[in-house]
Amino acid sequence: MVDIINVHKKFGELEVLKGINLTVPRGKIVSIIGSSGSGKSTLLRSVNHLEVIDKGQIMLDGVQVNRPDMSGLAFERHINHIRQNMGMVFQHFNLFPHLSTLENVTLGPRKLKGMEKKPAEELGREYLDRVGLADKAEVYPSRLSGGQKQRVAIARALAMQPKVMLFDEATSALDPELVEEVNQVMQGLAKDHMTMLIVTHEMAFARDVSDWAMFMDGGVVVEEGTPDKFFTNPDHERTRNFLRKHL
Ligand code: ATP
Ligand code: MG
Repeated sequence: MVDIINVHKKFGELEVLKGINLTVPRGKIVSIIGSSGSGKSTLLRSVNHLEVIDKGQIMLDGVQVNRPDMSGLAFERHINHIRQNMGMVFQHFNLFPHLSTLENVTLGPRKLKGMEKKPAEELGREYLDRVGLADKAEVYPSRLSGGQKQRVAIARALAMQPKVMLFDEATSALDPELVEEVNQVMQGLAKDHMTMLIVTHEMAFARDVSDWAMFMDGGVVVEEGTPDKFFTNPDHERTRNFLRKHL
């Protein structure tokens, strides 16, 4: 589904990604863990071209996302099409404050997919229901808790019916008591075999939800494996050190 092939990225002189390889098969959940500054967000943002990589390839279902050979309008059309197939959820929810919950969720399907109001609203309500917020459709974001806002952000991404969901520390800005409700929504998606790439600092959650875990440090993949092996018996000293501090 998503293939990350020998991806390199520099910010000025700073090489943040030094040849990353990772595959996220259809219906699987891959967690990326690592210290602050190790390049996790840069990698995730590279997947949907919010960061432009210097070298390597990002593939979605066999279609190359980064296309150094393309430019202008042709590339814009290409990348917009790709992005419709990738839902992204950030640490900060970025909901539109002047739009109701339902309007936040239906904006993408209406504007980007040209859906009519009624079917878009039906779809929107379905996804709000899925994240447990069917009764909040008419409410504005300022009236929601952080956990509810993040669940709306997830519903908004799902309403585009993406092939893959990207989560960048979706719960790390939340009060501890609100983390669980968002994790449960993500667990629900996992049960429904949504393909997901998750950056997280929550080791217990990563262990529970993932099919595969990857540890990055200094822009390289230090270790990866099944959660059973990775979290209980990692091969590398750097992984052990990191897990010791974070478990
Ligand atoms: P955290 O756990 O704190 O979110 P991270 O693993 O997500 O960290 P990144 O945000 O990918 O790390 O950053 C990796 C490195 O790249 C850091 O040194 C950061 O300062 C640098 N960096 C990230 N974005 C930019 C940018 N737009 N310009 C310059 N440097 C950047
Ligand atoms: Mg980050």
